[in-house]
Amino acid sequence: NLETQTMSSMSSWEKYLIAHELAHQWFGNKVTCGTPGDLWLNEAFATFGEHLANEKLLMNNTEFLNYLLSEKNYCTSFTNQSVA
Ligand SMILES: [Zn+2]
Repeated sequence: NLETQTMSSMSSWEKYLIAHELAHQWFGNKVTCGTPGDLWLNEAFATFGEHLANEKLLMNNTEFLNYLLSEKNYCTSFTNQSVA
């Protein structure tokens, strides 16, 4: 898919990106969307996979909470835009 092509063009794979792609193997590839309007679910679940890896494997608690805060700030910085 487009995402995999983008990722494979990168010189190195960060661990959180590996977690993201592994999540896609299940949610997105094995389990697929019913309609194109549901595609955001694929990215949402893969993003959850990143968060899970960061929380359980890659970050301590303080780092993870700061990461979640920065993610929240990034997501809420967009205004008047559709998720689709
Ligand atoms: Zn993705």
